[in-house]
Amino acid sequence: MPRDNALKEVHSFAAGQWIEPGEGARTIASAVTGAPIFAAGNDALDIGAMLGWAREKGGPALRGMTFHDRAKIIKAVALHLCDHRQELYDLSFDTGATQKDHLIDIDGGIGTMLVFASKGRREMPDGHVYIDGATEQLSRSGSFVGQHIAVPLQGVAVQINAFNFPVWGMLEKLAPALLAGVPSIVKPATATCYVTEACVRLILQSGLLPDGALQLVAGGLGDMLDHLDCQDVVSFTGSADTALKLRANPRLMKNSTRFMSEQDSLNATVLGSDARSGTPEFDLFVKEVHREMTVKAGQKCTAIRRIMVPDAQVDAVIHALSDKLAKTTVGDPRLETTHMGALVSEAQKKDVLEKAALIGRDAERVFGDPDNVSVTGENTENGAFISPMLFCAGIPDAAQHLHDTEAFGPVATVMGYRDTSHAVRLLKRGKGSLVASVFTASADTAREITLGAAAFHGRLYFNNRTSMDEATGHGAPLPHMVHGGPGRAGGGEELGGIRGVLHYMQRTAIQGSPDILTGITQRWVPGAATKTDDAHPFTRAFGSLTIGDTLHAGPRTVTIDDIETFAHFTGDRFYAHMDEDAAAANPFFPGRVAHGYLLLSFAAGMFVQPDPGPVLANTGLDSLRFMAPVSPGDAISVQLTVKAKTPRNETYGEVRWHVTLTNQEAATVAEYELLTMNAF
Ligand code: NAP
Repeated sequence: MPRDNALKEVHSFAAGQWIEPGEGARTIASAVTGAPIFAAGNDALDIGAMLGWAREKGGPALRGMTFHDRAKIIKAVALHLCDHRQELYDLSFDTGATQKDHLIDIDGGIGTMLVFASKGRREMPDGHVYIDGATEQLSRSGSFVGQHIAVPLQGVAVQINAFNFPVWGMLEKLAPALLAGVPSIVKPATATCYVTEACVRLILQSGLLPDGALQLVAGGLGDMLDHLDCQDVVSFTGSADTALKLRANPRLMKNSTRFMSEQDSLNATVLGSDARSGTPEFDLFVKEVHREMTVKAGQKCTAIRRIMVPDAQVDAVIHALSDKLAKTTVGDPRLETTHMGALVSEAQKKDVLEKAALIGRDAERVFGDPDNVSVTGENTENGAFISPMLFCAGIPDAAQHLHDTEAFGPVATVMGYRDTSHAVRLLKRGKGSLVASVFTASADTAREITLGAAAFHGRLYFNNRTSMDEATGHGAPLPHMVHGGPGRAGGGEELGGIRGVLHYMQRTAIQGSPDILTGITQRWVPGAATKTDDAHPFTRAFGSLTIGDTLHAGPRTVTIDDIETFAHFTGDRFYAHMDEDAAAANPFFPGRVAHGYLLLSFAAGMFVQPDPGPVLANTGLDSLRFMAPVSPGDAISVQLTVKAKTPRNETYGEVRWHVTLTNQEAATVAEYELLTMNAF
């Protein structure tokens, strides 16, 4: 079909080339004016070349880097986008989004990248293997041990996104995939792909990513899913219908290709029975429901669709919400006075109105008119504007559509509940949701709802007068916390800190000797070989310490005078250290024993090298265990071994030392991990 030459083009980025729209291109209209503005899509994209470019170029380049290398790139990309975000704001108005909405999509996406960059540096090693959990002792003497690890998948992440967050939707998937070491092919929803394209251009222009790490499909994906295998991942966000169609792809099922799905959701909010009109919780509730209904014109996967309030509060809630909705200006998102912009397209508006009509079969409309909305701004008569609509369900238990129909717009339904267990039953009618919020000052109510309904939700958000000044909002998925939900919400999970990175990695159980595990993980495992050197390890700079470097020190005999002095000096006169008879009556002690903290102090006294040197500070210790009592007359020795090294910046890094204290019979009396910061 001939294309209107006045349209701007949205290009795909495939196998290193920007590809203009071609056969099968679709026209995209402005949500605000209704005028056609872009053309996007090309059915002739070379899918084989794209997958090859990612698998053969992007994957090896990313996997050649450490987690820290990739985290640094993610941070640099985020800062680059931050410098250019105005360009993205300017484009994004045509999607119907206001400046406030841009902050969620564009700044929110950049913020998500920064959190992953920071978590990558702090919580992942500067290496190639992620260590998942503790070493498992699989044999009596410890010569055969086990460790779960995770390594990057060797394929490509195909990331299909919904129209509502063209930037955040991409970046919240791209950041964890990049950190994992997996290249991405991003496919945004066509309706808003011009914003995603601009963001991809900025990322690629920065020159920070290796070739093959990022590609973009504007328009249809063609038959890409038919070419995926067991090392690839599909991560999808969109409607349940599309998810069902895509996850049923025989090739994906045959190859057990990972398919993560974030779908639609009938999210709910509950006003606790303690939160009567006039309480801070009531006001907070009304404020959050109003915000959730109107931000992004309700086009948020986490937006509140079902509003549950105690029967006695129904009228007060409807009154307060209607009051706020009446003051909500709908119109051109570029105007500062506009509170709520447009839906993304005329098709979306039609869909929302149809769904609202279905909900209207179960509930009475108490605010808003589907046929009438007052719109501010010029040239908006063909825009996809809609009035917020509030419904009220008299008998919510008998209702079908309102628990089942997602009107992806500014539409929500109030329903009364009798008691908390009734609210729990209504929550579960969503058949699996992304998030539910509860406004209560009662920890008992919070616990009852958690035990009753957490299994049906990916996230529960509690807010009240204590947390309200700092709470992050019902609708905000945070990079630190899991986003996703069971059942209807897709059964998937994203974000959640490093959990989100592991979706792009393979968890493998490694079994072998301590030396084998140390070699694989680059983290010393007890029982593995150690190396001693004439030079005290505290005199050696970060770079010259190697895993397994060890210092043996001691023995030092612990006397009754030591115990008494320590007790008097610190004030710790616990009877087990001071009273022979009382100590002997305790099932753990043979008689008076040394304080555990005295032993730690003696250990430091034995292994510390006192002169100024590369050790800058002792920053703490982990996993301390006192394993056997130490009696007066016992002689303790210490072994200090370099377990792991993590650079922190250009001048110093953290050294994790495995410390073992033994007595004169070589029995372990205490064990811990000591952390120091060492200069390079
Ligand atoms: P959609 O129509 O299901 O589309 C989602 C994505 O799938 C788009 O990129 C779409 O591309 C693509 N797609 C559709 N058919 C495809 C096919 N046969 N092969 C490959 N890709 C295909 O959803 P939407 O209208 O964009 O978004 C609204 C829905 O997303 C709502 O239901 C909302 O609840 C949900 N959502 C969920 C989350 C979450 O995190 N759980 C977040 C945001 C939105 P085209 O645009 O090119 O068709």
